[in-house]
Amino acid sequence: MGKRPQHVKQQHQRHWGRWLIGIFSVVVLVGLIGLMMVQVLDFSAPETSSGQSNQTDPAQQHQTSRQQPTSQDHSHAAESSGHQAHGSKSSSTAAASSSSSSASTGRSSSSQSATGVVPDAAAGSSANADGATSTPRANDADPTPQAPTNVTPAPGQNHLAAASQYAFDVQQVRAQMYGQGSAIGQKTVFLTFDDGINPTITPQILAILHRYQVHATFFLVGKAINQSTRALLLQEYQSGHGIAIHSFDHNYSRLYPKRRANASQILAEAEQTQAVLRQYLGQQFRTRVWRYPGGHMSWQNLAPADLALRQHGYYWMDWNAASGDALGAKEAPKTVAQMVQYQAYSLSYFPDHGVRVVLMHDAAGKQLTVAALPQIIEFYQQRGYRFGILS
Ligand SMILES: [Zn+2]
Repeated sequence: MGKRPQHVKQQHQRHWGRWLIGIFSVVVLVGLIGLMMVQVLDFSAPETSSGQSNQTDPAQQHQTSRQQPTSQDHSHAAESSGHQAHGSKSSSTAAASSSSSSASTGRSSSSQSATGVVPDAAAGSSANADGATSTPRANDADPTPQAPTNVTPAPGQNHLAAASQYAFDVQQVRAQMYGQGSAIGQKTVFLTFDDGINPTITPQILAILHRYQVHATFFLVGKAINQSTRALLLQEYQSGHGIAIHSFDHNYSRLYPKRRANASQILAEAEQTQAVLRQYLGQQFRTRVWRYPGGHMSWQNLAPADLALRQHGYYWMDWNAASGDALGAKEAPKTVAQMVQYQAYSLSYFPDHGVRVVLMHDAAGKQLTVAALPQIIEFYQQRGYRFGILS
């Protein structure tokens, strides 16, 4: 009697079993919801805090305001010639005399490279300056850690977020360079390297810039960007340098048939190179900075090309200082001392408005540029310049 039949007992047990499972799953469900809420709160917290830390970028607010240029493109169509011609808008002959006289004065000093011993001073990388504020959060155990803040891209820009503190609007730099503005303020130098990427020269340039903790703008030729140079492109970008365009294939006769700019070809090469850069650096990347191969100062009929570029968000930039590393064999500096001297000498051909844009090359064979770079950097450091990138 007292015994229930076996199947009733089993039913009873099943009944309890279902209850237990039910309660258990409710508990699990509530637990999961709770966990998710904690996660959500947890994730939202650091985002806002790091976002703020980026925005309150030390006193650099003025740089982010991009002003429309007053029309300055008329400023110089000095039809001087030569790739390296660095005549100013008004004095195209100055370039020629500069190169010959500097070559002759340069030759007299035969001292060899005193590849400046580098005070490994700036241990606190400037690139880290605002990255350091992003302290690790509770979700450290996240198996897919986010990239460190100092390699976070600045969306729509040609540089990392951390580089914003020393990135300057290309239009404002150009305006000040030609004495038509003062937005850049204190003395600033922009080291620029054209014609890369080169697997031999570019890494050496990057190493020197890193050693000195200064940044530069690389004007890349689109066709030089491919799988084999991809790592160097990433290194340029992730080291906090600026990325700019210097045409797709650097072919004068296509860009400037009969020395006259072909606007549609020029724009097409800018867009093509932009596309390649975005392919490797991500769709958040976008550069506005363009340098005409040979320089704006060297060609004719540039107004239509300038306009086409501007309508697509590109702004050209020449230079007002040069290392002389693309001059013909005859005039080119032959030693580090000559190159350093040439660079200093080149300054005298442009009025000084507190902004220097230095033309150099990280192309094949530019080993002398590598050797002279430390002294060129020191030249500006000793004169109290800060180092900027073009954006
Ligand atoms: Zn070039």
